Amino acid sequence: MRISQTVCLLAIALVAENVAADTLVHAGRLIKANNSNVKTEVTVVIDGNKIKAIESGYKKPSNADTVIDLKDYTVMPGLMDMHTHISSQHNGLASYLEGFKLNEADYALKGVVYAQKTLDAGFTTVRNLGDSYNVTVALKKAVSSGMINGPRIYTAAKSIATTGGHADPTNGRAMSITGDPGPKEGVINGIAEARKAVRQRYKDGADLIKITATGGVLSVAKSGQNPQFMTDELEAIVETAKDYGMTVAVHAHGKEGMKRAIEAGVDSIEHGTFMDDEIFKLMKKHNTYYVPTVMAGNWVAEKAKIDGFFPALVRPKAAAIGPLIEKTFGRAYLAGVNIAFGTDSGVSAHGDNGLEFELMVRAGMKPIDAIRSATFHGAKLLNILDEVGTIEKNKLADIVAIKGNPLKNIALMKNVNFVMKDGKVYKFEK
Ligand SMILES: [Zn+2]
Repeated sequence: MRISQTVCLLAIALVAENVAADTLVHAGRLIKANNSNVKTEVTVVIDGNKIKAIESGYKKPSNADTVIDLKDYTVMPGLMDMHTHISSQHNGLASYLEGFKLNEADYALKGVVYAQKTLDAGFTTVRNLGDSYNVTVALKKAVSSGMINGPRIYTAAKSIATTGGHADPTNGRAMSITGDPGPKEGVINGIAEARKAVRQRYKDGADLIKITATGGVLSVAKSGQNPQFMTDELEAIVETAKDYGMTVAVHAHGKEGMKRAIEAGVDSIEHGTFMDDEIFKLMKKHNTYYVPTVMAGNWVAEKAKIDGFFPALVRPKAAAIGPLIEKTFGRAYLAGVNIAFGTDSGVSAHGDNGLEFELMVRAGMKPIDAIRSATFHGAKLLNILDEVGTIEKNKLADIVAIKGNPLKNIALMKNVNFVMKDGKVYKFEK
């Protein structure tokens, strides 16, 4: 009798402990981001790494509970940047020599530092669209195993281009050291090589595919906007990617390249500088996301004013294309195109990602929509909305907080005070 009583009490104690050991986040203002509603004086109950409940008012803790007091803060889901290059950072002319000087380990070590900066800025998930030596695959593993701090990384590894196209890693080099890069290095010509390049990315451990459907600003090549993939190559990329459950992100400035890519069924258009009404319509029809990267446009436009910052071939492209993206984005938003937040960080400095919110709002976006583009819509684009992207029951506890009200002053998004990822607090600067 006595023994069974003891066992019974022990069982109750264990159950009680399980039930009680929650983290209670007392949120002064809560943006769940599943819709545009904002709540005040709410408690988010977290059990381990998951959101267990959302309750009105400031719930009283039991003895075992931990309270995180965010009564003076706006609480929202962990931010998601859909366009980063987390293993590098542009530094003017010197960047063009890195390919000759740096090894895999150099990029990997940079990635460790930039991952920490990105997480500190409140970004708990990134989609990395292009690296060297697939180092972001290793970085992703190091973060997810808890070895280093950083955002959840979904990576395209090395971008796929065509010969001489934006992201051909040998552009602008002397013939003697140019070689002839192929699908393994991310350069394709024709259907068979397109398929091989996608399958190689799968083998390398990439989560998705990034292609460069038109010329780009920063590559040492003449055109910043000409189409660089044929329709059959685009279709081969998309069809093969689908076989492996991978989405396709597309760098594009010029209209023709965008049009071909959207019709081939890609998932997102990055930058999208010369989009017009026809493209907006096409994107809505095909449910294509637009990832504007306004920051990158403004950054290259600013740097183009400095003599000698860019190589001679790059400077006029930066000056012409850079200033246009902000306006294009404003028109795309009004046209009702699906927008996912992306900064192209690695062009501008890692950790400055939050500036994009300010630029999006300046171009005409409502603050709540800018925040939802970096939460709900990021998760939707990555097909992980059942796990993250909103503050809802059973989702992973990726939560950030900002002192004050960013819906009234969007510039506050540049200073994220509190960062929790997977139930663990990484930053709390009061
Ligand atoms: Zn990029």
